[in-house]
Amino acid sequence: MDNYKLFEPSIGKSKAILVILLDAFRWDYLTLEDSPTIFALSQKSLYIKKLVSSSGFTQRTALFTGTLPDKNGFYTMYIRDPQTSPYKILRPFTWILRSLPSSGLLFRIVRKFINQLPKLTTEWAPPGRIPSELLSQISVIEDRKPIQDKGSLPLESIFDCFREAHIPFSYYMAPVSGEDEPTMQNVLAEIKKGGQIFFVQFSDTDGLVHQSGVSSQKRHEVVQRVDARISELKQAMEKQFHDPWIVILGDHGMVDVTDYVDVWNITESEAKKHGLIQGKDYLFFLDSTLARFWFFTEKAQSLLEPYLRLHLSSQGEWIEESYRQSRHIPYHPAWYGDLIWKTHCGIGIFPDFFHGPNDRYRGMHGYDCQEDSQKGMLLFSHKSLPKQLCIESGGIEQICATLCDLLTIPPPKTSTGKSFLKNLHEK
Ligand SMILES: [Zn+2]
Repeated sequence: MDNYKLFEPSIGKSKAILVILLDAFRWDYLTLEDSPTIFALSQKSLYIKKLVSSSGFTQRTALFTGTLPDKNGFYTMYIRDPQTSPYKILRPFTWILRSLPSSGLLFRIVRKFINQLPKLTTEWAPPGRIPSELLSQISVIEDRKPIQDKGSLPLESIFDCFREAHIPFSYYMAPVSGEDEPTMQNVLAEIKKGGQIFFVQFSDTDGLVHQSGVSSQKRHEVVQRVDARISELKQAMEKQFHDPWIVILGDHGMVDVTDYVDVWNITESEAKKHGLIQGKDYLFFLDSTLARFWFFTEKAQSLLEPYLRLHLSSQGEWIEESYRQSRHIPYHPAWYGDLIWKTHCGIGIFPDFFHGPNDRYRGMHGYDCQEDSQKGMLLFSHKSLPKQLCIESGGIEQICATLCDLLTIPPPKTSTGKSFLKNLHEK
């Protein structure tokens, strides 16, 4: 088809690339009104209209290794792993922590101390709202070490490929990126210094939209603000480099939450009736869209499992093997739970281990990755491209190989996602 033959992208090992990750930028946020810069970039781009994210909460691993969770093993940010817990020094104090009140001055002092612990052994593992007495069992997987460093990820990563090819890169994505404005200033300064590949992340589209919801006016304002930042970065790139690639990535979507389910209370009140203790007889971890359960005694399992299966059924479903395989979710009960319950799209678990009772969220992601509302977007823009080439749907695991193709370097040997450029040539 002529359409595709026109499309001979300008690639090579010395190309400068700016990769901008817009956290939770849903595919339909891209409009002429709210995001004119991204819209203009999309007009001369390889544009993947709906990007299917990876299941769970470890999108960066999928992005950097070019694999889905069942291949790389990473699914949720937090796992149960007492051995590697950055909070394991709390273990001897479990019974004291269990008896402390869960609010008030003493609680705040204890949490202030606890907040410091992960900084000693990990790159990023904030305790959120995880109950203090459970923390010594909880660990992280993605951010034990800086994610861009050699050996940090379970498989070969794009950063390993850059090192191999002696291509310089700078990393300003999570957890290095914090607030959007300082990130912006840091990246502008970095681009002015030279370099070649820049990874930057803006997170207001995630954090602020969790608070305000997708249909709020605030969400439109957030999109407009990030679009202005992209305009400035684009200009900086064009000033510094001859013909840079600009890659814009919405790594997943977001949806307004219409109903909430209090899994915490449902589970604890039943457990208390039988004298079962959380952390000792059983454990749950509440991500906002997943409730994960471990049972340490037969009594706990025989009493709680049937009860939960009965009481949690209508607002979600249990993750069984067929779903797990179709969504590329890894099977690792020790880390992720003997049982995993997921809510239907738009139902939130609340309160959870990230949001306290006074901190109700309105937008959420982490639902079934095949839901339209959970899809992000992706574009590879370059001035040599004559027009937009639109691919209706693609996967987050394909980005890694595509970036390597733009640089004409081999992708990670273990990556499975097919480059979108190959996709083009097969048309
Ligand atoms: Zn989020």
